[in-house]
Amino acid sequence: MQFFGHIIDGEEVPSVDGATFEVWNPWTQEVWATAAEGGPEDAALAVASSRRAFDEGPWPRMGRAARAAAIHRLADLMEERADDLATLDTTNMAKPFAQAQHDVARSIWNFRFFADHQRDHCGEVFPMDSGHHSYSEYGPAGVVAAISPWNFPLMMATWKIAPAIAWGNTCIIKPSEDTPASVTLLGRLAIEAGFPPGVLNVLNGHGSPAGSSLTADDRVDRVTFTGSSTTGKTVMASASSHLAPVSLELGGKGANIVFEDADLDNAVHWAVEAIFRNSGQICLAGSRLFVASSVYDEFMDRFVAAAEALTIGDPFDPKTRFSSLASKKHFEKVSSYVDGVGLDGGKILTGGVDDEGRWLIRPTIVTDLPLTASAYCDEIFGPVCVVNRFESEEEVVSLANDTRYGLNAMLFTENLSRAHRVASQLRAGTVWVNCFFIRDLRTPFGGVGDSGVGREGGNFSREFFTEPKAVVMQIQR
Ligand code: NDP
Repeated sequence: MQFFGHIIDGEEVPSVDGATFEVWNPWTQEVWATAAEGGPEDAALAVASSRRAFDEGPWPRMGRAARAAAIHRLADLMEERADDLATLDTTNMAKPFAQAQHDVARSIWNFRFFADHQRDHCGEVFPMDSGHHSYSEYGPAGVVAAISPWNFPLMMATWKIAPAIAWGNTCIIKPSEDTPASVTLLGRLAIEAGFPPGVLNVLNGHGSPAGSSLTADDRVDRVTFTGSSTTGKTVMASASSHLAPVSLELGGKGANIVFEDADLDNAVHWAVEAIFRNSGQICLAGSRLFVASSVYDEFMDRFVAAAEALTIGDPFDPKTRFSSLASKKHFEKVSSYVDGVGLDGGKILTGGVDDEGRWLIRPTIVTDLPLTASAYCDEIFGPVCVVNRFESEEEVVSLANDTRYGLNAMLFTENLSRAHRVASQLRAGTVWVNCFFIRDLRTPFGGVGDSGVGREGGNFSREFFTEPKAVVMQIQR
């Protein structure tokens, strides 16, 4: 059986008290590995190591090109081990292998992008009439605690680690207890790449005490978290005790709007991707679908047929497009929402809870739910799409914005003016027009309302992971 330790100070180590936890394969419903169960003592050791690496080590002091080269070395090693990384994510959370490979490629790109972004960036110069000259300098902030979720185990972790270390910080990552494997392999590769001890530490264990010990530690200078809105509030409260700035990427209940002039083939394709990719375990999921009345019947016939055509099965089978949920606990949560649909007066057009004992919810499409039903309002984080029809642009904008979340939205139309008009009225951090899931890493990423605090990506990550400084020089006497 495999074992995933902590990576602390350049070594893979067990917990101080030897505690471990079981790591499950949700497709086979078997324990396939164990991992070190981090406690307060392990967290303190990880923070001390990263603190030392920041205060005394070479990483924040080395030239930008040298740091970029070190990060590219790690990315090279990830490329060599890409299939191993993808295998760990697929084993750990039943993500179809091709999707896991896609996530690994994006994870590698996260490192390459931020390595080059910090190497090539320019500060600002402010010529002053007084005979002075000011410029800005972006220095590293210090020790970063990063807490990542189980739905994109490697990808979400690297989205935080890459900008943090590229800007000269040191970082401790706490992966979800459900998915410790790929991030631990990443930590091993960082040692192989020659990273100085403490630049990237991996602390395995549960949200509490491992994660909560990190966020509460006053030697930590930044906290970046992706997960549920409820835990996000706990994380923010904890970090506020020592005034560490936080970046929170939380849940969503994305609106997907199909106007009557949409290219329906394209809209159906993306509607399926938006709610059934990764078994719907995506904060960006298009979980509330609004379809114009005049094309409703035609769209729904095609959407239901496309959902039913998804090949369900073993995530390692190349034909599989859809598989189990990531854990028994999560399966029970999503099942309770599906069970509640009928009680709330909704109709399941296709899908439902698997009847073969797997932790699987079939691609599920629901109509006729009242707008107050919990399956309509809450983030289910599973393959459950709630569909409504609409009559006018004004009505659908109001429906789309009637949520406490605001991470993303999608709209499908061939009318350019309407695309611009509606995109600017939607209350969301990202709006996709005629597409979904396409990202440019330079753009802001994050949400409003219960979907988060702050933005990451490109210069937005620079703002969070650095301490900007103004230098004022007298140049004329
Ligand atoms: P959580 O928000 O509880 O967990 C996310 C991460 O935070 C995990 O690494 C978790 O560790 C850690 N964590 C939990 N409690 C604390 C704490 N007090 N201090 C610091 N870190 C902590 O999400 P769940 O995994 O429980 O999923 C619940 C729901 O959250 C989902 O059903 C979904 O709605 C939403 N979610 C949203 C995600 C997104 O991408 N926005 C991603 C994942 C979940 P551990 O796993 O060990 O508890």
